[in-house]
Amino acid sequence: MESSTPHESYNLNIQTPVGDLRASVAVPTGFIPITDIIPLMRSLGEQAHQLATDNTTQAGDTISCRKGCAACCRMMIPVSPPEAMALLAVVEALPSAKKERLLERFQAAQRTLRNAGLEDGLKRLAFSEDQGTDEELEPLNRAYYALQMPCPFLEDEICSIYEQRPSACRELLVTSPAELCQDLIQNPIQLIPSPFRIGTVLSKLWRDCYQGPVRLIPLPYALDWATVYKSQYTRTWSGPELLSRALDAAAEYLQRQSP
Ligand code: SF4
Repeated sequence: MESSTPHESYNLNIQTPVGDLRASVAVPTGFIPITDIIPLMRSLGEQAHQLATDNTTQAGDTISCRKGCAACCRMMIPVSPPEAMALLAVVEALPSAKKERLLERFQAAQRTLRNAGLEDGLKRLAFSEDQGTDEELEPLNRAYYALQMPCPFLEDEICSIYEQRPSACRELLVTSPAELCQDLIQNPIQLIPSPFRIGTVLSKLWRDCYQGPVRLIPLPYALDWATVYKSQYTRTWSGPELLSRALDAAAEYLQRQSP
């Protein structure tokens, strides 16, 4: 967001399962697309995750995750629609040779998924109204992870879009020994529970702004999805209205998490 444009500031106090989240935020008073609210919402998610991490470390546990460990970059990463649009913009801005190499990796990933018989299930999540239940998704998640296929954005075991990576990638931290992450299905992993899944909040915001299901797009199809729909979803909202809608989506999410 441009700092020279007029902004409206807010002091937020959001109650999460791991403590109160207090933040001062500012949004442009003018009209912005839904993708412009992503950095602010990710920042709230990261602060909530930090609260959870602090609680964990104060209890005596340590975080095992380190730069260069990309074990969880072989999982199926769910991407919210606004983040899929933002990812497409990131990729479109890459130098052409880098973009070409990246798109080849996306195509290779899709071939691997097709050959493994997972394409239909994953494309259903990306493109159909039927998102299925968590129970239905579990076998798909397991089959995806069993392929041990690196995310197309992974280069030399480092995320090539680290600053712009999806919210879901920011919410995976473990306290169990890093070696156990080599097989997340067989080994007993201690994951720090995410108090505030911003990908889901952004998907709810998308549903409220554009109608439709709370969609989470499997990452290998996120660029395809955004390419198909980018000319259709071009509405803008005033910054304060979009923030208000996003906070409503967050409140709905947190209410569903409370016991
Ligand atoms: S986007 Fe980056 S952090 Fe996320 S799975 Fe891909 S390589 Fe890993």
